[in-house]
This record gives sequence, C-alpha cells and structure tokens, in this order.
Amino acid sequence: MIQAGVVAVQGDVSEHAAGIRRAGESHNVSVEIVEIRQSGVVPDCDVLLLPGGESTAISRLLDREGIDTEIQSHVEAGKPVLATCAGLIVAARDAKDDRVDTLDIIDVTVDRNAFGRQIDSFEAPLNIEGLDEPFPAVFIRAPVVDAVGEDTTVLARWDNHPVAVQDGSVIATAFHPELTPDSRIHDLAFFANKNSKINQATSPD
Ligand code: GLN
Repeated sequence: MIQAGVVAVQGDVSEHAAGIRRAGESHNVSVEIVEIRQSGVVPDCDVLLLPGGESTAISRLLDREGIDTEIQSHVEAGKPVLATCAGLIVAARDAKDDRVDTLDIIDVTVDRNAFGRQIDSFEAPLNIEGLDEPFPAVFIRAPVVDAVGEDTTVLARWDNHPVAVQDGSVIATAFHPELTPDSRIHDLAFFANKNSKINQATSPD
C-alpha cells in the first residue's frame, strides 16, 4: 500500500486519482489517495501529484499553507512527483511571472499560456521516451518549456518544444495525462521511474 497525495486546490483531482490507482493495480500495489489542501499531509505521502488548473492560484495556496517547503523536502528525499500543465509551471525553476512563486523542483523555465496564445486546446499523439506506443496527449492552454537545465531530460517534444521533462524523481508534462483512460504517464512517474526511491520508501503490502 502506498499513499499518493494530490494537491487539491483545483484541477482534475478525481481523474488523477483514478490514473494513479490504475497504474498501481498493474504493479499489484494498492494506493490510498489523500487530498492536499493544508500542511502536514505531504510528509506522509510516498508520491505526489500537482494537477493543472491556474498556476497563480495553486502557488498562492502552497505558499500560504507552507505546503511548498514540504514538497521540496519530498523531492530532496528522492520521492516521485508528477506535475501536469499548471503543475509544471508551479514546479519549474522560473515561470517568468511574478504572480507564480515556483517550487524549483525541476530545472526548466516555462512560458505560461504559450500554446494557448496560438490555439486554446488540442490533442496530439506523442512519442514519449519510455513508452512503446504514442500517448494521446491533451493540451489545454498549455505552457511551453523554453529552457531545460543540464540534469533535466526531455522525454517528449511537440512542434519542437519540450512537453514532457524529467529531473530526477520529478516528471512534468505540459499536457493533461488524466484526461484519457491511458495511465502510462502516471505509471512512468510513480512506478517505473528508476530515479525515484519509491521502492525504498514503501514497504510491501
Ligand atoms: N494556463 C494555465 C496557467 O497558467 C495552465 C492551464 C492548465 O493547467 N490547463 O496556470
């Protein structure tokens, strides 16, 4: 049994919970989902998920409640995080926007709403490192990763922009993997991420 924390300010909390559960099932791991709205919850979580929504609102809550430093400690301990869309913006080193106080848990800089300025939302089959078949990626007012640090790996690109990136135990996507029944991204982030210490962090159930 593992405990998965989903930051629940806004965004597709139940869809992400379903994705994590399905990914766990395929490894015979049962998952308890906990919603994160205040401090004190993250330290008990084995894995964390930062969903999409509005990055300004999410970062404000994390800062106000003191959840931000708990997430940073989680990453320092080598435990996995999946951050999607606005979650990617919040996780980044810099979002070039004063209204977003980023966590700096993945070494990228992002441009908020960069795809959105051209086209609001779209779906694309993406080739992602670590997955055998293309992933049906849904982009909604998605950010663009415009600079990637030395230790960060680009897992997928769309239109030449990085749209899935990994820095140690943190994986972030510009798209919304929870909007399809395909849970391979949740699997990649939490159960198949060799850079994370989930196996050491959890005991068999
Ligand atoms: N554009 C939003 C932001 O800047 C993110 C959109 C999303 O999460 N779908 O926070």
